Amino acid sequence: MLESPDPVARGAAGRAHARAVDRDRRYRYIAEIMATTIETLPILIVPSPILKARARPVAADDMDRVRDLLPRMYATMYRAPGIGLAAPQVGVGLRFTIVDLMADGRAAPMTLINPEVTARSEELATREEGCLSLPGQYADVTRPARVSVRYTDAEGARHQIEADGLLAACLQHEIDHLDGVLFIDHLSALKRNMILRRLAKEQRQKRTEAM
Ligand SMILES: [Zn+2]
Repeated sequence: MLESPDPVARGAAGRAHARAVDRDRRYRYIAEIMATTIETLPILIVPSPILKARARPVAADDMDRVRDLLPRMYATMYRAPGIGLAAPQVGVGLRFTIVDLMADGRAAPMTLINPEVTARSEELATREEGCLSLPGQYADVTRPARVSVRYTDAEGARHQIEADGLLAACLQHEIDHLDGVLFIDHLSALKRNMILRRLAKEQRQKRTEAM
């Protein structure tokens, strides 16, 4: 690539190039996960008690364990398929989650360690949510439309991001998991119980079919 004489333009071109390289790396990452035999982790289904427990913050001593779990968590999320998976959903009581909206079919994996919602918009947004821990169940959930989220990534770098749309909903959903909160906890008791009964029935049927 030719270097632009304009340092600003060169900076922008450099950044665009860096983004392209980054994107290629993500594609390879997903392709590798899909192609290899990285083992997936069992996803806990409601009413597993771990899903209702508050996870504890990730400490420096936990980072090796977190990094060791990440490839299997990504493999589990992509194969499910899902756009978010929080550690408690695979039985790990630590405050971290992974997210990838796969916007435009492109992988953009995000690892959020000790994520925190630091600001919420007053404006609310309603969208349909589902959860890998409540397979086959969906409901409209109303949450703040925009949030600011602070987190640390797997390399230990700190981030502060503003999110709206699907990402805002997804981040709130995943961070809720770290507090033992499920999307059905945002619904009326009537709707929640309806979903829980339906899930229990479907899980029973699945077990019967498997026998
Ligand atoms: Zn979920």
